[in-house]
Amino acid sequence: MIAGPDAPLIPMVKADAYGLGMARAVSVLSREEPWGWGVACVAEGVRLREMESARPILVFSPAAPDEIARGVESGLTFCVSDVSFLEGVAREARDRDRRVAVHLEVDTGMGRAGFDWRAVGEWGAAVDELLEDFEGRVRWEGTFTHFHSADDVDEASPELQVRRFEEVLEALPPGRGGMDHLCNSAGGFRLPRLASRGVRPGIFLYGGVAGTALPAPEEVVALRGRIALIREVPEGTTVGYGATYRARRRERWATVGIGYGDGLRRALSNRGHVLVQGRRVPIVGRISMDMTVVEITDLPAVRPGDVVTFLGSDGDERITLEEMATLADTNNYEILTGFTRRLPRIWSDESGTVATEVNPRGR
Ligand SMILES: *Cc1c(COP(=O)(O)O)cnc(C)c1O
Repeated sequence: MIAGPDAPLIPMVKADAYGLGMARAVSVLSREEPWGWGVACVAEGVRLREMESARPILVFSPAAPDEIARGVESGLTFCVSDVSFLEGVAREARDRDRRVAVHLEVDTGMGRAGFDWRAVGEWGAAVDELLEDFEGRVRWEGTFTHFHSADDVDEASPELQVRRFEEVLEALPPGRGGMDHLCNSAGGFRLPRLASRGVRPGIFLYGGVAGTALPAPEEVVALRGRIALIREVPEGTTVGYGATYRARRRERWATVGIGYGDGLRRALSNRGHVLVQGRRVPIVGRISMDMTVVEITDLPAVRPGDVVTFLGSDGDERITLEEMATLADTNNYEILTGFTRRLPRIWSDESGTVATEVNPRGR
């Protein structure tokens, strides 16, 4: 990712840091001295505020009006997409005798949130007027937009969005708009000339490739289980719901206690691979909620208790998020955020394991 030394960094830690665990992600990413944090909803911001007292926490998804009070109370920074919501924030700030900051989202083509770039003449003036009415209760701290196709090799579409965004900045009343931020992970690679402006990296921080033909980050996440049971079966034996796989010879099958209830995509049934003792072996039959069977006939030394890698490296072999996503007909984001709380999260650094988070209702 390309971000200049002074570029405000806003790491996105929404969705529990893409499923990895927000508290740990925040403590690791704090070393980079980010300008602030990005979450999606008020509840995430409130949780983050318990561990982050100083930095701005931006709530990026439009919030419902009845959530404004909780956000203001926790000192969150709302991202605003319309004037009536902004008025709600301003009223809440006045009623609670608080000063709040907001960032305005400009919709330059994403279409899900933000002020329409074409209508800046109307909303620019309306926002300005409202801020004056509320006499400094609300500070217009930043203005941003979000790319819809920066992951694609075709740079035309982010460039078009940048042009629309720049037009909006020029049309705003003088001195308004504050800081600006445009790039997600992919934008940070494709548009290096924006490197001095704010960036909002997400997927790349968590080990996902940000887009087509972009560099792979180092491995961040692995999904591993252990072999619980090994059986030798004669040719023709079937496995799993629907009996969709039949042993082609005398085979050895290993059962692992991870399934789609843990977020292992069922679409990997009879398609995906796992790594055992540094070798690739196939998933056979349908993945069940709690169990997956892999075929280890050619690995006679494998024993119960041996580690099975569904995602990540083992020896020279590696299964990437992107391989998994392609086979499951989805993207790396959905793979990461799909891992359920039943899986314990084990955090390690160069020196080894630093923390283990086990959900009380997990394993
Ligand atoms: C999720 C999100 C990002 C991060 O996107 P990545 O593709 O994960 O880098 C940036 N900005 C906004 C507004 C987001 O919602």
